[in-house]
Amino acid sequence: MSILNASDENIISLRQPEVDPALVQRANEIRNRVIQFRNEEAGDFAAELERTGKIPDALWNRIRELGFHKLTLPTWAGGEGLPLMLYFPILEEVAHCHGTIRMIVHAYNSIWRTVGQGSDSQQKEWLPRMVNEGALVAFALTEPGNGTGIDLRTTATPQAQGAKYVLNGVKHLITFAEEASVLAVVAKMEGEAGRGALTAFLIPQGRAGMNLTPMPHMMGDKGCSHAVITFENCEVSADEVLGEVGEGFGVAVHGFLDQSRACIAQSAVGLAQEALDRTLEFVQKRVTFGKPIASRQAVQMRIADMQIAIQATRLLCQDVARKFDMGADISLEASIAKANAIQMVGDVTDSALALFGGMGYAMTSPVERLYRDARSLWFEEGTTETQKQTIAMELLANARERGRAGATAGRGAGAAGAAGAAGAAGAASDGVRG
Ligand SMILES: Cc1cc2nc3c(=O)[nH]c(=O)nc-3n(C[C@H](O)[C@H](O)[C@H](O)COP(=O)(O)OP(=O)(O)OC[C@H]3O[C@@H](n4cnc5c(N)ncnc54)[C@H](O)[C@@H]3O)c2cc1C
Repeated sequence: MSILNASDENIISLRQPEVDPALVQRANEIRNRVIQFRNEEAGDFAAELERTGKIPDALWNRIRELGFHKLTLPTWAGGEGLPLMLYFPILEEVAHCHGTIRMIVHAYNSIWRTVGQGSDSQQKEWLPRMVNEGALVAFALTEPGNGTGIDLRTTATPQAQGAKYVLNGVKHLITFAEEASVLAVVAKMEGEAGRGALTAFLIPQGRAGMNLTPMPHMMGDKGCSHAVITFENCEVSADEVLGEVGEGFGVAVHGFLDQSRACIAQSAVGLAQEALDRTLEFVQKRVTFGKPIASRQAVQMRIADMQIAIQATRLLCQDVARKFDMGADISLEASIAKANAIQMVGDVTDSALALFGGMGYAMTSPVERLYRDARSLWFEEGTTETQKQTIAMELLANARERGRAGATAGRGAGAAGAAGAAGAAGAASDGVRG
């Protein structure tokens, strides 16, 4: 349970995750490499992505060549093994480059964690291939006809006494489904209900009965592919269950989505900082009524607000990273960071566009693309409402627990009453999380 909003005793601590100084040096080397890539190569790739709407092979190859695809993967598999505290400053720099470059690096360094919940043999088969061959995992949760969570309708029907399962259903909006070597798919066990009905599967690309259809181009992150996946009597073996049967919710949310939400928040920080940096250049050059607009206090207040908002989200991300690296449950903090980041990146890119004036709206302006790319961050790993539901449910569960402890200690019926109300609300949360 998070310590947020708790009045527990003796919670003040100087404890930090232990980080090997050699790893810090390594993280700095990699970050410097990202800065060099950003300065020398990213602009050309960004222009090509915007022009063609396709990711050139040269970009995939360059990201792998520079080792940006294996930053958080475990060292036993050949990865860099960076904790989130060291990965986040690197991801922030990547997010300055282009939405699609950020998406590639994020997909590699985040979705592998679903496989990290798998059996020894699943991990040994896939994680070294991700590092050495650049194999990619896609994560398939969202469905067109239902909410995300226990409302999923893609079913897994056990056959041959559970030796295999047959999947039927439809997923959509699945990023890099076409490029992926393997897909982590969350389905509901036929005839079962509730959170325990969800099971995750790890299904190699090309499996019979799993059909991919490309989706239309999106507003931003040009070049990123998204697909509809249709399962029609798609057979998967019991060995392809990811984690345990009935633990798909844990694999998806705690194993992957929690930390990935923080990664999206950190990506928003990098994108927003890029928008502010470009704005700072512009307002010094743009002259109205005989003076650069940077000299106007109204403009100064606006750029100060932009930096305040960015820095607040950056610090929230650091808080999540530190707790994740220490092995804490970060559900609450990750959703707080993501909800804050959605608001922040919307506001900052709005302000950037406003301060650029009419020229900001031109497709040649540096902030027009940032404005579009920022909007995908609103949806990846859940909307504001999803994050707020998670936050509210965590707080109510915390209040319930403290209410119970209070009641046990004989602190009166008021706390027990509050606990009952919180319990009822907590039970409703299964319908919307995930
Ligand atoms: C660029 C991009 C990449 C993506 N990549 C992936 C991927 O790789 N894998 C994957 O599985 N999914 C992916 N998604 C899907 C993404 O996770 C969802 O779009 C997002 O979680 C929102 O779900 P939805 O689209 O079903 O919206 P809906 O659930 O239809 O929601 C629509 C609106 O209603 C609100 N709403 C819905 N239910 C409630 C409720 N109970 N209470 C209050 N408000 C509610 C939502 O907040 C939202 O504002 C991607 C989406 C985008 C845009």
